[in-house]
Amino acid sequence: MDLINILPDSVANQIAAGEVVDRPASAVKELLENAMDAGATQIDLVVKDAGRTLIQVIDNGCGMSDSDARLCFERHATSKIHRSDDLFAIRTMGFRGEALASIAAISQVELRTRLHDSELGTQVLIEGSKIVSQQPMACPPGTSMAMKNLFYNVPARRNFLKKDSVELSHIEEVFRRVTLIHYDLGFTLTSNGRLLYDLKAGSMLQRISQLYGNVYKERFYNVEEDTDLLKIKGFVGKPEHARRTRGEQYLFVNGRFIKHPALSAAVEKAYEGMLADHSYPSYFIGLQVDPSRIDINIHPTKTEVKFVDEHAMFAILRSAVKKALGQFTLATELEFNTPPEFNIAPAPKGYVPPMPKISYNPNYNPFSHTPNPSPKGEGSCKQREAVQSTVDFYNEQERNPLPSPPGEGSGVRPVACMQVQGRYIVTTLSSGLAIIDQQRAHERILFDQLKQSNNQSIRQSQTLLFPVNCQFSAADAELFGELLPDLRDYGFGIDAMGHCTFVVTATPPDMKESELQECFDRMLADYKSSTLQKFNNRSQSLCASLARQMAVKPGKVLTQEEMQQLVANLFACPQADMSPSGKKIITIVKPEELLK
Ligand code: ADP
Ligand code: MG
Repeated sequence: MDLINILPDSVANQIAAGEVVDRPASAVKELLENAMDAGATQIDLVVKDAGRTLIQVIDNGCGMSDSDARLCFERHATSKIHRSDDLFAIRTMGFRGEALASIAAISQVELRTRLHDSELGTQVLIEGSKIVSQQPMACPPGTSMAMKNLFYNVPARRNFLKKDSVELSHIEEVFRRVTLIHYDLGFTLTSNGRLLYDLKAGSMLQRISQLYGNVYKERFYNVEEDTDLLKIKGFVGKPEHARRTRGEQYLFVNGRFIKHPALSAAVEKAYEGMLADHSYPSYFIGLQVDPSRIDINIHPTKTEVKFVDEHAMFAILRSAVKKALGQFTLATELEFNTPPEFNIAPAPKGYVPPMPKISYNPNYNPFSHTPNPSPKGEGSCKQREAVQSTVDFYNEQERNPLPSPPGEGSGVRPVACMQVQGRYIVTTLSSGLAIIDQQRAHERILFDQLKQSNNQSIRQSQTLLFPVNCQFSAADAELFGELLPDLRDYGFGIDAMGHCTFVVTATPPDMKESELQECFDRMLADYKSSTLQKFNNRSQSLCASLARQMAVKPGKVLTQEEMQQLVANLFACPQADMSPSGKKIITIVKPEELLK
């Protein structure tokens, strides 16, 4: 019995389309690239319902003839290459002749296009790969490609689409990837009738600040290098602006955003010794290489590429970035190059140190509220037990507070603390010498505080003497508006003023007014990348992000009182040993280890 049959074109086209267009954002990428290949200087992107209902790209590029306007929807129809040799001399974004065929297979497309020297343009309507009509039409020179009702004929695909906010953030990411490196072109992005970005042609730094806000202008060093093999031009983030997420790391080759782990590693290597643990630099770096030394045809979306001279490129890129950082930040480098280990002199022979004793004030009650019972049983490593016993010890003090002597209040007679490297607090505990990461500790305290004010509506809030205005890009303002109810739960008083401006009238305690804008900017960046990573507990991740932004940073010198307060507050937290993002806060060196 014969079992094999040839799939009808419509099915074959849909299958092939899946490789190129899997969500609205990938169609956006293809259409923007076509407009750039057509030599456009102004490109307008319009989406409705995050691209579900409409994705339209209007350009002032070369336009197409009547017959090209039909032909462009055929598979392998391209004006960009003619023979296989051309594959190694590619100077255009597209070359596979697949995008429009794919788009036409899974949506209803209206193309309007006119050559610059033609009187009249042409309109083509195509649906599920079938041309429905073609007629002459008066239109401006250039091309408008409108794809409507994406996946209208592939319900399974349609059901895979995420909610609009997620799809729109993917579209914005594509928009950034394209516009960041093509800063010499004008772009707009309009979503549901609202103009989110209006980017004018200019320099790369101008483009960065148009996309991310003016504060970004101060955060980068220029990196520029010109070698036979490789030309580098871009911006690398100052180490102090490194972030907890790899969010803003953009690498481009010949005008194309790429993902290349080895080259990204080259950039990060250049920062060696300059960054706090688990923080990542931002960068926007454009590379130019000879097209014959690069293969972009190893993946349908062309974000993965191969280089003939990868090793050499790695070395050049790393040293270029090093140079950019080193030229300006010698002081920082020296500061960070001091080894982080403690220099504890070896004990003299035969010396038997006395057992360390913990001193504490039995009258001290640092807690104004009752913390939750300590969680138990989450792994029982020694380290954890030691920390837990200390937590229990502190909590015990709280449950059985002794009356304070009259007149003395509940002041701290406290254990002395020492700050090391502007990052760690060293103090003695019942279980030994504790080395506490000040930032993570503070993060934990703030996280618990914020969460509590959210859950129990015992909101702690301080009214600002002078309200502070915060300003965002249009897209961020929209997102920020969505998050307002959560922020209010955390003790912020915020109102929208219009024009992407918000006025902050109150904040949670301990928050610096001067850091509000930065805190919100980082929170939004975190939030966007966490939506992309499909975090589902929005309130939890928002709370963690806020705590991270508000926490004291490494390098902040703390007074004795501040350190003691921090330590006391930390041990009031049920999970004092771990930061909200799961990082270890305390390392305990036991007395017997000290002996060694
Ligand atoms: P590719 O970009 O790989 O050539 P596409 O399917 O994206 O394949 O496009 C097919 C052809 O249609 C292009 O090669 C180009 O000649 C033409 N085309 C597509 N979009 C435009 C546009 N915006 N302006 C002018 N020509 C276009
Ligand atoms: Mg194309």
